[in-house]
Amino acid sequence: MSKVVKFGGSSLASAEQFEKAGKIIRAEKERRYVVPSAPGKRYSKDTKVTDMLYQCYGLAESGKDFREKLDSIKARYQEIVDGLSLSLSLEDEFKIIEKNFQEKAGENYAASRGEYLNGIIMACYLEYEFIDAAEVIFFEENGDFDADRTNKVLAARLNECKNAVIPGFYGSLPDGTVKTFSRGGSDITGSIVAKAVQADVYENWTDVSGFLIADPRIILNPEVIDTITYRELRELSYMGATVLHEDAIFPVRQQGIPINIRNTNAPEDRGTWIVGSTCQKSRYVITGIAGKKGFCAINIEKDMMNSEIGFGRKVLQAFEENGISFEHSPSGIDTFTVFVHQDEFMDKEQKVVAGIHRLANPDTIEIESDLALLAVVGRGMKSTRGTAGRIFSALAHANINVKMIDQGSSELNIIIGVANSDFEAAIKAIYDIFVISQL
Ligand code: ASP
Repeated sequence: MSKVVKFGGSSLASAEQFEKAGKIIRAEKERRYVVPSAPGKRYSKDTKVTDMLYQCYGLAESGKDFREKLDSIKARYQEIVDGLSLSLSLEDEFKIIEKNFQEKAGENYAASRGEYLNGIIMACYLEYEFIDAAEVIFFEENGDFDADRTNKVLAARLNECKNAVIPGFYGSLPDGTVKTFSRGGSDITGSIVAKAVQADVYENWTDVSGFLIADPRIILNPEVIDTITYRELRELSYMGATVLHEDAIFPVRQQGIPINIRNTNAPEDRGTWIVGSTCQKSRYVITGIAGKKGFCAINIEKDMMNSEIGFGRKVLQAFEENGISFEHSPSGIDTFTVFVHQDEFMDKEQKVVAGIHRLANPDTIEIESDLALLAVVGRGMKSTRGTAGRIFSALAHANINVKMIDQGSSELNIIIGVANSDFEAAIKAIYDIFVISQL
């Protein structure tokens, strides 16, 4: 049996946090493969080491003196090394980093050093083997992750070792230069490692006790989700709920490996289980609510649209030609609406409108801005009657005007469009009716 354990930045921000992580790892011998992030914030106004590295490299790249900044990064690591009483020197590593910064080794290289150095400390602290991610995680020349080559090399390498630390967030391109995933990408590394060793579980240790039903900035102390399916999670992550990088789901999902989100500061909490499918009912009809502000609706009208074959395609072509992806497109008999991200659309607005006129020859086009979309997600909705009714009566009671409704064909989610200014109130109303009133 083996477990892959990934620790996020706040779980490794100081020696004290390292000790908590160490205790967790040593508590179970199955926790054989460890994926660390770079040190995160120690307190809310603190700066993550990854951000310090980006800033430091920015100075180096523009030919400014970056040594002071590099020294402050070094001090962050030294504090951890000293706090753990390790006889480890990072002097040589920092000399190499300084030289590479001078030679402008690239922003990706710079950012990756956060995980690389934390990995060296973690391996020394645990007495585990250190494996540089650049040797086992690969990208293709065009920058896409090379899943096949990575899995082959990584599986062979990890098969040989009982315990190892593999830093998160980066790998290498075919020419050997370092490349990182997008921000928060250590989650992806953890998932890739779990797939390579066919782990029984991928534990993702962070600073919350799991995935919350709703955003804690909107709902005070929302409940933790016990079990969520990959598909539900994807719907919620897409709509802005963040705990796990959205690309972290794919490698383990293919293998049916569950992810367990856990809290380094409360290791006894069960956390959230993310699974392929489950017969476990969620405690409430809905599993979670998430949403995003900042959408536009482009309402297109044309008499007899219903009988014009290809009308929808022509409208969407105008968006495609301008490189804009659409979120939803509810339609009526003579109306067709397209929801897009306002910031993507704004600059190209007139081009798109002209394109729709040219391609689809509509009667009118109206644009409505400052809209929010929210997703109510739950595998339980399919088998429960009246869910939509409850959502909309809750919104009506809260005096919220619903602009759009879209129920996914899987009956896993209901997407609702409201004004940006009604967004928070809408989430509260839905949380109240499905969670608070059930407590
Ligand atoms: N350290 C990187 C970041 O801050 C990657 C990670 O933590 O997952 O985005």
